[in-house]
Amino acid sequence: MKPIKNPEEPLALWSGQDRIDNEIHTSVTAIIRSGGCSWNRCRICQYRHERFTGVEKPELSRLMMAQIHRLKEQIEHEKPQVVKVYTSGSFFDPAEVPPDIQEYLINQVKGKTLIVESRCEYVDLERFSRYMDLIREGGETGTIVVAIGLETTSDPIREKCIDKGLHFSEYLKTSDTIHKAGGKVKTYLLHKPPYLTEREAHDDMIRSIREIIPITDLISMNPCTVQRNTHLETLWKRQAYRPPYLWSVASILAQSDAHVTCDPIGGGQTRGPHNCGTCDSMILDAIRDYNLNADQDLMKSVMEMHCDCKDEWEYVMNQEYPWSMPLTR
Ligand code: SF4
Ligand SMILES: [Zn+2]
Repeated sequence: MKPIKNPEEPLALWSGQDRIDNEIHTSVTAIIRSGGCSWNRCRICQYRHERFTGVEKPELSRLMMAQIHRLKEQIEHEKPQVVKVYTSGSFFDPAEVPPDIQEYLINQVKGKTLIVESRCEYVDLERFSRYMDLIREGGETGTIVVAIGLETTSDPIREKCIDKGLHFSEYLKTSDTIHKAGGKVKTYLLHKPPYLTEREAHDDMIRSIREIIPITDLISMNPCTVQRNTHLETLWKRQAYRPPYLWSVASILAQSDAHVTCDPIGGGQTRGPHNCGTCDSMILDAIRDYNLNADQDLMKSVMEMHCDCKDEWEYVMNQEYPWSMPLTR
């Protein structure tokens, strides 16, 4: 494990823009080192290794508070409309983010939109309603968006390919809880977890997007990237996994009936979603533009373009067959 440079500083802190409710908002994003994800099992996830290890609770609280103080300075300086805080796990998990830290942060962002990630089991109606009351003390514009890693609406794919430990029914229940308390739901989908063909992964996203549109307020699709020290990396090194083609990503975005944000991390690289190397940057630029302007015609025009690798993608979409794997041990 790499030495931590300064444990009192966020792992990353930056300012930018985000599209929410058809408007572009200024934002500040912080990645905070925490106690780490309690689930700690997903086959594709490297973030679960980002954690303080071997520190007692009071020290964990102190280190996290120091990072939030640094974020607070940035908020006071930039006055953003949206604050995003990612902890490489679940913000509402008390073992990961002590409750006094949760409350302190919400106090700092009253009247703003706060976006945090959480697994469903940590969203509790009573506590979440209290946090909603607190953030609204700064005005009606104050709200909490809970980002949930649903990944797919298919329970077998989520269980067998990702090992997420979540059922679609729990996601529906948690979304309902968040809405009842007046908050918003952002849903993460994962495009092409391991063990799926290009076509299966593509169609899984088309179906998942369609099925969650009536439930979620925001949708973010993450094309899968091969992160280090993951089961996925082992498969990739054995040539048993290829990240999705950018043609697949563009095709999904061109067909969806809602604006789906998408930031292809590692785009154009062998570990990330990629095509042939010639057309990658053009498609990645179009996806970035679409992220902010929601102009779906842009994605449709990408699909009209030609590159030699498009024939290859079409061949793979039609000819790649799933390898049978046992469902049980
Ligand atoms: S994807 Fe989320 S729930 Fe899964 S191990 Fe990583 S941080 Fe934990
Ligand atoms: Zn190409």
